[in-house]
Amino acid sequence: MTTSDKNIVLHVADVHKSFGGLRALSDVDLQVEEGKVHAIIGPNGAGKSTLLNVCIGRIKPDRGHVVFNGNTLDRHAPHEINQLGVSRVFQTPEIFPDLSLLDNVMIPAFAKRDGAFRFNAMRGLSGEKDIREEAEFTLQDIGLFERRFDEAGSLSRGDKRRLELAMCLIQKPKLLLLDEPTAGMARHDTNMTIELLKRIKARGMTKVIIEHDMHVVFSLADKISVLAQGRIIAEGLPEEVRGNPKVKEAYLGEAHE
Ligand code: ADP
Ligand code: MG
Repeated sequence: MTTSDKNIVLHVADVHKSFGGLRALSDVDLQVEEGKVHAIIGPNGAGKSTLLNVCIGRIKPDRGHVVFNGNTLDRHAPHEINQLGVSRVFQTPEIFPDLSLLDNVMIPAFAKRDGAFRFNAMRGLSGEKDIREEAEFTLQDIGLFERRFDEAGSLSRGDKRRLELAMCLIQKPKLLLLDEPTAGMARHDTNMTIELLKRIKARGMTKVIIEHDMHVVFSLADKISVLAQGRIIAEGLPEEVRGNPKVKEAYLGEAHE
């Protein structure tokens, strides 16, 4: 690693990805600084989720690289990338609906410690005092401790998303990737999630947040990259991006769809 990229935790370098004839990502270059909240915004279908999936190894780019903390991720499986310190919240919550909240939060802690997730680990779950205590603490942190023995499937949509966030936080990631963490939430739930993310921000964890809701973006982001039709069309501080005519145009286009 050279001195100049000392503070760059994540570097997406010249990434291309096509699905059949559709170019989902073209020439995407993104540098995420340590400790910052970097938002990626853009209209529906812009390629935001694809970009996030490239960062976590779920989608392999056709060209280009992703470098995390000095590691080129091209040959890493998703669970290896997770073990290197990258956790993510997807656009649709991926939880274990039949298990308790406590078990849901303990599982990723085991996955981080033991590598590829094994269901057999469940047998030993209750015996792991340290991880159990950590899971209880994490549930307290997100305000779901009282419901720790309930089945995760019984939670409201907003609470499911917060549970998924807890499943990331227990892994103490160096980099947290969030794909529309407030999608489908009512305003009250959105505000609760913003407050939660602000508290986490204060802890200095680096975050990439994909978000459609401008209220969320401008409440949280240190830097914004705007993606439209698979390309970064603007980048900068929130106030710079807000007034950029290209950005307004990209969103206007969406309104007419
Ligand atoms: P966003 O998250 O910004 O709404 P996506 O990254 O989900 O956008 O999608 C970008 C484009 O790629 C869209 O046109 C979408 O239909 C297409 N796309 C995404 N994933 C796939 C896939 N697995 N197969 C084919 N097309 C896909
Ligand atoms: Mg998406």
